[in-house]
Amino acid sequence: MTFVRWTQLVVCCGIVLAGLVPGACGAQSAPASAPDSAPAATAPAGNRTAYILPPEKLAKAIALSRIRNILDIVGALWGLVVLWLLLATRTFAGIEAWAGRVSGRRRSPVRADSERLPHPRWLQGLLFFAVFFIVTTLAGLPIDALGHHFSREYGISLQGWGGWLGDQGKGLGLAVLIGAPILLLFNWIVRRWPRRYWLGIWLAAVPLIVAVLLVSPLFEPIFDKFEPLTQNHAALVEELEKVVARTGTDIPPGRMFLMKASEKTNGLNAYVDGIGATKRIVVWDTTAGRIPDDEIMFIFGHESGHYVLNHIPKQVSLSVVGLFFVLWTCAGFAGWLARRFGSAWGLQTQDSSAAPLASRTGFVVLIFAVSIAGFVLQPVINTVSRHYEHEADVYGQEAVHGLVADPRKTAVAAFNALGEAWLDDPNPSPFIEFWEYNHPSVKTRANFAAQYDPWKDGGHGEFFEK
Ligand SMILES: [Zn+2]
Repeated sequence: MTFVRWTQLVVCCGIVLAGLVPGACGAQSAPASAPDSAPAATAPAGNRTAYILPPEKLAKAIALSRIRNILDIVGALWGLVVLWLLLATRTFAGIEAWAGRVSGRRRSPVRADSERLPHPRWLQGLLFFAVFFIVTTLAGLPIDALGHHFSREYGISLQGWGGWLGDQGKGLGLAVLIGAPILLLFNWIVRRWPRRYWLGIWLAAVPLIVAVLLVSPLFEPIFDKFEPLTQNHAALVEELEKVVARTGTDIPPGRMFLMKASEKTNGLNAYVDGIGATKRIVVWDTTAGRIPDDEIMFIFGHESGHYVLNHIPKQVSLSVVGLFFVLWTCAGFAGWLARRFGSAWGLQTQDSSAAPLASRTGFVVLIFAVSIAGFVLQPVINTVSRHYEHEADVYGQEAVHGLVADPRKTAVAAFNALGEAWLDDPNPSPFIEFWEYNHPSVKTRANFAAQYDPWKDGGHGEFFEK
């Protein structure tokens, strides 16, 4: 959860992509829906569902889902309102002026007459964007805190408030360290190419997206502890190796890790992340040893599917194409906002030749425009994600064929374990699933798994010859 959180913060907020970049495939942001795996199609006969919660959990799951849905949508809208309010009250303009004053002058190191020289502009910019991250994070904190409160209340999160705040602080620190220089670069591009800056930002964003995917696993130990999976789960690793052999993936035991999630949560999860040299699989310690190994094999098969089926490169490619049009559109929209509200919002241009968006505050107008696009496009992004998750579910079920007694039973049991651990909504409204879910609902996934049996009558699956 923290991993996805900071990636989103840095990549989406920082890079102004507002959610266009896929999280490392499979890593499920904990609070929302259940962990990883997939989708849609034929339900079991009649009204029966393969996702069944015990009565007391059923009531809790329904209540908690309602709270989550409200917080998700309110949180997203609140983020937009905060940006608008901070612009309309000229708070950003004030911060820009303040950053200029605070870091505006320095004493000359060589001249004794104490003549003061201007600081480089980039220093003022770094200060401005650091404050930007701090202010927007603080503004969103109450809603995040409400989410954490309910997660504790319903027995999912075990993390105390001190630890939780510490994680928020670390996330913010990373956003400032990584996000502020990136925004500074983009702001410089706007200044340098006032007409075609959106193209420049797009060109710069592409390698940054790949870099973030590559290095993201390196930052995860800041939030959680990891150990080699073989250390305490040697038998499980042996089972997973069978899946590796069947799927032909090159994930050696040295790339399998156990994450110590149990101090923070009761939720179950496993995910793959990184690319190339940093590619790895992570199983939470709330999962290994707590649910049967064959169910973890299925989850592992699902995760392997993301790699074998090239979901990360495919999603990155789609994001890059989408980002091109988003930036192009948002440049026009932000320009209109600047003309319409520029004087009210206090947009300053240091020199009259620069476009209004070239100022720090003007750049926030661009961030605002892209954030709106991110909100509107969320269902599109989620629909693509659900498609890949479904594909990975199919792959996972086929990957354990011949390794477990009955892939259907194993998959259905795994989905029920995941759904119960996260108290996933047993019956989400189609609209909520369409708008908010980056994985198909557990009900959808379990129902599909229950009837997926391509091997009957001597057939074979979509991805394996037998
Ligand atoms: Zn997945």
